[in-house]
Amino acid sequence: MEYCKYHPVEAATYSCTHCNVRQCDHCVDASSGSVRCLVCRRELENQGPGDSIVPFWRRLDKCFSYPMTMQTLLLIILASAVSAVAASAGGLQSFVILLVVSAVTTKYGFLCLQQTAAGKMDAPDVSEAYLGGIKLIIHIILIVLGIVFMVLAVANVLGQFAALAFSVFWLCCLPAVFINYARFEEIGAAINPVKVAHLVLLLRGAYLLLLLFITIMILSVGTLNQLFDGQDVLSAALQSVVSYYYWIVIFHLMGYLLFQKQHVLGYVSRLDSDGDVHNRSDKQHTMARIGVLAKEGMFTELSSELKTALKSIRMISGYMTVTLIIFAHYTRPPNWISSG
Ligand SMILES: [Zn+2]
Ligand SMILES: [Zn+2]
Repeated sequence: MEYCKYHPVEAATYSCTHCNVRQCDHCVDASSGSVRCLVCRRELENQGPGDSIVPFWRRLDKCFSYPMTMQTLLLIILASAVSAVAASAGGLQSFVILLVVSAVTTKYGFLCLQQTAAGKMDAPDVSEAYLGGIKLIIHIILIVLGIVFMVLAVANVLGQFAALAFSVFWLCCLPAVFINYARFEEIGAAINPVKVAHLVLLLRGAYLLLLLFITIMILSVGTLNQLFDGQDVLSAALQSVVSYYYWIVIFHLMGYLLFQKQHVLGYVSRLDSDGDVHNRSDKQHTMARIGVLAKEGMFTELSSELKTALKSIRMISGYMTVTLIIFAHYTRPPNWISSG
């Protein structure tokens, strides 16, 4: 792990290629919108969270409690109840209802994936999931049809055995298909076997572990299916609750895998809870500048920094005096005290 030049025990989160130093969140200048070096004023490179990300298999407890928010649980329960009732009714109507319910939950799942990949480790608001939902569902259907078409084509040209192998390939790559769709929001990126295989190769062992976890979850739903063999609506709803719950956990896991592997995938995102450098107060900016300038021994810059800081303190004390006078003016005792 790389450390901050000015805080040798803090992980470096930025680097300046000009000064050839690495900085932590405290030691950067974010007062102008972009994040800049406090010494040379050039824009810094975001290092992301570096090696400090815990792999997903070490935070499984958190992954499984991800859907434990009021809104998400409500969505799961509602979706399960509706699909259980629809499934028991049968017919075309129930098929349409089931399609709509899976569309809604899948749309929400993709939002969970994308937000997790961007470093947000809390389940998003359900209301955020319904913008542009139709497009996503049409894309997913096209992706599935595309894969089926490719397998059929392989069967025609190369025979049954090759088609079987190709099907197994797609089955193992299905999470990668979802991940690639969430990353690029393009059908091409999701069903291009080369791009999908490339992603799997980049993620390597972590991807295999993800596959293992997904398989375990699917098997456990299967076991539940056998346990509640009854055909009544209640047991069907109960099974649906578990499936939808896992469905959201799986999307969260896929998103976390992206977050975990961001350095190999070439993007940078930070944990939301890490504190945003852009949301700092003026005082914090000034203190950061003073700290770095002092440690660099840049005393001319330091003294001018201190002077402006002092000026602003004087200005603040001036404002405070004016405010106090106005306050005293408006809160003077009522007339009956002075006249009485
Ligand atoms: Zn630092
Ligand atoms: Zn610099």
